[in-house]
Amino acid sequence: MTPGRPVPPPLALQIPLAEDAGTASPLEGRLAAARGAVSSTGGLVPLTVARRAPKADDVEIAIEFCGLCHSDVHATRGEWGTQNYPLVPGHEIVGRVSRVGSDVDDFAPGDLVGVGCIVDSCRECESCREGLEQYCERGMTGTYGAKDARNGDSITQGGYASSVVVDRRYVLRVPENLDPAAVAPLLCAGITTFSPLSHFGVEEGDVVGVVGLGGLGHMAVKLAKAMGAEVRVFTTSESKVSAALELGADAVILSRDEDAMAAANRSIDLIIDTVAAPHDLNPFFRTLHRDGALFQLGLPSDAMPPVNPGALIRRRIAYAGSLIGGIAETQEMLDFCAEHGVVSDVEIVGADQLNDAYDRMVAGDVKYRFVLDTTTLQAPAERADA
Ligand SMILES: [Zn+2]
Ligand SMILES: [Zn+2]
Repeated sequence: MTPGRPVPPPLALQIPLAEDAGTASPLEGRLAAARGAVSSTGGLVPLTVARRAPKADDVEIAIEFCGLCHSDVHATRGEWGTQNYPLVPGHEIVGRVSRVGSDVDDFAPGDLVGVGCIVDSCRECESCREGLEQYCERGMTGTYGAKDARNGDSITQGGYASSVVVDRRYVLRVPENLDPAAVAPLLCAGITTFSPLSHFGVEEGDVVGVVGLGGLGHMAVKLAKAMGAEVRVFTTSESKVSAALELGADAVILSRDEDAMAAANRSIDLIIDTVAAPHDLNPFFRTLHRDGALFQLGLPSDAMPPVNPGALIRRRIAYAGSLIGGIAETQEMLDFCAEHGVVSDVEIVGADQLNDAYDRMVAGDVKYRFVLDTTTLQAPAERADA
């Protein structure tokens, strides 16, 4: 534990369920060992989460690994507005099915499965009906920190935990030929970059630019290469050149070098911009061909420099955003990764290293994703009554 952080409570605080969550199930609910935040400043501490009794459509998963996403840091530290504490983060979950509800016939105990950023949505709006649950017009239910309308308005608690219960509609099948720890980040960082590449229709011979080489950027490089594209990485730091080339990038452009940027004029079809800090996009637009597009995936908390409409108009360039991916598309991404042997580069950490890992993520000191080994969470002392 980092010096200066408050000592965690001696007895794990239990996060209860809403009273009417998981009712009408013949199965009992269980407790999960977890790590989460009890305030915006206290770091992550041991917690116990009451998981609901699996209902007819529910899948209970014994979690093996959970990726650490930058969103987890922002959420637990209260940097994205008011949070419901205690809060267990984690939306890059991989584990094995332990129990299923009576109506579940597509998953069985022992199956290797994943859960990403979405655990429910309205299932009725146009976006949900098209399999684009991330754009649910009534708001998707996030894997942590969200009000779970179908389960008594309990607040969802994420994957830094020994188990989770999720409706089968939001559970992904993880191919057995991939390393499960290295698969975990595919469920957020992977799908977030796969979706715009796929939506743009990237294919053999296209040139894809990737801005930023963190958790998202390194997945964008790997996925675009696997789709047959030529990949050019934009970075501000000379120190990342060799890392980008090792990941498979065909070229690296130092974005602060005006001559290098001018030389890249009209050379790229699609730019995936993963940088979450405010930055000027206009120099990047000039590297795009006519009918090119720039997808911005990072959400800066401060205003960005204005976009010059002329840069877009003169080449019919599209400036777009994109949010994770739907459930069907996430499955498609996992199957694509299995076929092409694509996984994330990960550093596995134990529960006691989470706070240091957060500090290192903020400092950009990780290649490229931390993954929590959930066997290092302490086991809950007791089981909840159903
Ligand atoms: Zn994420
Ligand atoms: Zn919907």
